[in-house]
Amino acid sequence: MSTVDLAALVRTIPDFPKPGIQFRDITTLLADPAGFADLIARLARIARPLDADLIVGIEARGFILGAALANALGLGFVPVRKAGKLPGKTVGVDYVLEYGTDRLEVHEGQLARGARAILVDDLIATGGTALAAAQLVREQAATVLMALFAIDLPDLGGRTALEAKGIATSAILA
Ligand code: IMP
Repeated sequence: MSTVDLAALVRTIPDFPKPGIQFRDITTLLADPAGFADLIARLARIARPLDADLIVGIEARGFILGAALANALGLGFVPVRKAGKLPGKTVGVDYVLEYGTDRLEVHEGQLARGARAILVDDLIATGGTALAAAQLVREQAATVLMALFAIDLPDLGGRTALEAKGIATSAILA
């Protein structure tokens, strides 16, 4: 079992990026070799039995965790990015934010029909970002086996929202 106190390695920064928001910052955890290794090992313990085909990481911290997890599992990694960042031909999905809309994109052809994907991000709050990423995966006729996070903020209802759409959801810290 893990002896690393992962929660103690995450710091909370008040009023970032806006007044009133308590930002959970995992850079302190990532900078700690034992903490980073333990987090990836714990994510891998959840992900390995699912026998996924690939890991889909959500920009930006989902790239760090998702790529490390993919490597630990011997799987490929596919990035889901904000609009206009990927160099090749993309497919995308628009989603509604508190103020306005945003768009997530993936390279065309990187989510094969029938592929079994695990979605990875650092944190789930309302679940809006992960739901949009899951929609993008599903629109390519691929399957979301699970949405996997380092941190869940349960008061914001993200897990409930994902599970209502049939997406199994797991987090290491809640
Ligand atoms: P949601 O769409 O409301 O679930 O917000 C989750 C997205 O916003 C993820 O991509 C997170 O990386 C980011 N996010 C929201 N709050 C935080 C935070 O406190 N720390 C780190 N990332 C956050």
